[in-house]
Amino acid sequence: MALNSDARRKIGISFEFFPPKSEEAEGQLWNTVSELQDWNPDFVSVTYGAGGTTKAPTLATVSRFLADTPLATASHLTCVGATKEETHGVIDSFRKAGVKHFVALRGDAPGGVGAPYQPHPGGYANAAALVAGLREIGDFEISVSAYPEKHPESRDSAADIDMLKQKADNGADRALTQFFFDNDNFERYLEKVRAAGINIPVVPGIMPILNLTQLKRFAGACGTVIPAFLDERFAGYDDKPEERAKVAAEVAAEQIEDLARRGLAEFHLYTMNRAPLVSAVLTNLGFKREGAKNTGAAA
Ligand code: FAD
Repeated sequence: MALNSDARRKIGISFEFFPPKSEEAEGQLWNTVSELQDWNPDFVSVTYGAGGTTKAPTLATVSRFLADTPLATASHLTCVGATKEETHGVIDSFRKAGVKHFVALRGDAPGGVGAPYQPHPGGYANAAALVAGLREIGDFEISVSAYPEKHPESRDSAADIDMLKQKADNGADRALTQFFFDNDNFERYLEKVRAAGINIPVVPGIMPILNLTQLKRFAGACGTVIPAFLDERFAGYDDKPEERAKVAAEVAAEQIEDLARRGLAEFHLYTMNRAPLVSAVLTNLGFKREGAKNTGAAA
């Protein structure tokens, strides 16, 4: 399962976290960070609740990453439900905290995934418009989303690729994908993306599976297909968390290894604020913990 050392050297990884909702979750997050930073990710990112619902906790979390860890840290940012002035105010407070990299997103409508989306009359209409706005404001690194299995609201995959093209044309540096498990489908998607003249890196989002049953509920809303092979791989492990974790680490490592064989070199791992499974995936791939590049450590 492990990648050979040459393939491994070329691979870049990033980790996604979400802001903690309780004191206990906060302790868990920083323990996770202190374990995962030794894998030397190229960057980490912190999610932002649509409509600004996590503005303060996202800002606090990102600020702590920047102050207490050596990790390059991106903040997610959504524009749903906000005027341009309000969004600019948010950008300004994050910039003052030292943020130089945004994951620029539209965000879900207030009713959740699938609820009809109404752009704010005085706001950015979508993520492509937000990217253009960010480019006018400052010299930020900008990542955006991409949907290999189609965004649930999209008419079709072509509409999604059009939107990604607008985001790239407006100055996005890379796209991070929704998580997926079907690498053949991803490869076909990437061919269409390249055929549309989109040349930015499209970084596969990898979700190590802590619990397949829970993931199935969540995946439906994201438009991610759960292939039958996953049921087969996890069959019989419902009440065996240790064995289940071993299979989960194998599945994610195999997915990354297969994508690396197909020429992909960057991977964005959804950590769910937990370290052991992500560490097991990277160990399976043959990565070595190298310790943080710079000084400083998470508490
Ligand atoms: P866009 O790129 O603007 O649109 C996505 C697709 O939906 C488009 O390709 C387009 O085809 C279609 N579409 C958009 N608007 C319409 C419309 N009005 N009618 C028809 N089709 C339409 N959400 C959060 O709240 N916080 C986060 O931190 C966060 N992080 C994310 C990180 C990643 C890597 C990904 C993949 C998603 C993330 N999301 C997050 C989820 C995201 O906000 C939702 O998927 C949201 O519905 C779309 O935002 P977007 O920026 O992807 O939208």
